Amino acid sequence: MTTSQWGSIYKDLGIKPIINATGSVTALGGSIVADEVRAAMEMSNDVYVPMSELEQKAGGEIARILDVPAAYITSGAGSALTLAAAAFMAGSDDDKIQQLPNTDGMPNKILIQKRQRYWYDRCMEFSGGQLVEVGNEDGTSADQLIKAINEDTACVHFPVYEQKEIDDNILSLEEVIEITHSKNKFVSVDAAGQIYPLENFGKYVKMGADFQCIAAKYMGAPHSTGLALGTEEIIDAISRHSFIGYESRRIRGIGRPHKIDRQEIIGVVVAVKRWLSMNHEERLSKAETQTNTIFNKIKNIDGLQVKIINNIIGHQPFGLSFDIDESKFGINNESFVELLKNNEPSIWTRVPDGEKSIVIHVFGMNSKEAEIVGDSISKILKDIK
Ligand SMILES: *Cc1c(COP(=O)(O)O)cnc(C)c1O
Repeated sequence: MTTSQWGSIYKDLGIKPIINATGSVTALGGSIVADEVRAAMEMSNDVYVPMSELEQKAGGEIARILDVPAAYITSGAGSALTLAAAAFMAGSDDDKIQQLPNTDGMPNKILIQKRQRYWYDRCMEFSGGQLVEVGNEDGTSADQLIKAINEDTACVHFPVYEQKEIDDNILSLEEVIEITHSKNKFVSVDAAGQIYPLENFGKYVKMGADFQCIAAKYMGAPHSTGLALGTEEIIDAISRHSFIGYESRRIRGIGRPHKIDRQEIIGVVVAVKRWLSMNHEERLSKAETQTNTIFNKIKNIDGLQVKIINNIIGHQPFGLSFDIDESKFGINNESFVELLKNNEPSIWTRVPDGEKSIVIHVFGMNSKEAEIVGDSISKILKDIK
């Protein structure tokens, strides 16, 4: 592709293409569909199949590959969370499925440890449930969770971020599973990004959780797809609440707006197979090289504190963080992020929520773009001085 063609399909609409230095974020389009995934989607385009059979066989194949009891392909991990919450509340009862989001007569409380509240937990409420915090800012004890679980409890929800430090103030997933199951309630896990190391992919269901989601946006599938993994009981219920149930069974469940196309379903199957068989050393080494490319171009700039991020867990390996010395350049990190956006070409990165430094991830970059990012940071700072 020549530079003039770069993003021309967007330019035709009057949109300026950007270099994605943020990583796999929905606001910038999530991810690039891998070549073999795109080829498989293309092959599935000109033929029709019964969608319920496709969902069932595709889910079965993924469950077999991941060695979990059952799986279902959804329109994103967010959709998997909403459908799972519906399954925890209404199960497979068609009357209840059609009653949602009115939860009268059903257990509808989704428990979550206070310190685990996070951006996507709202997805657990869209089918009519209600989040209830357990414990407080200081933490949650076993006793607090035991007391909080009652007949109104639909499930206990637990987000996992294995790349972050362990929080000793909260109950671990093992403890949550033990307590929740001793009270005959379900455990739900958001493991959207836990796809590497490969043994983490599907691990939480194997540990005993009734459900976990995966965001397929992180592994070369269409950005709009995701996976529900879980017990046969919960996955079967999810399929009944889904858009398939609405159409094939003529049961008006809440899943109708969570539609996913047959090309996407095929794409997810191929993306999972590709992810499990690809050379991850090569993937990591490419991310490390791109990170070093940027690092080497900016490491010696006076007034810039740069650190390499060495994490390889999850979907977004390596990257770097840096801070602008305000007393030297007269601007802070936030204004520098704006300068990068206004750069030619435009480079998007951010100071992530709850952090202070600018963070760059190479997930959404090719090697040429990594060079441009390093050169642009260096040039902007030179021009300020
Ligand atoms: C991205 C993400 C989601 C939402 O996934 P979508 O596929 O975009 O709906 C949920 N939870 C976590 C932790 C995520 O990273």
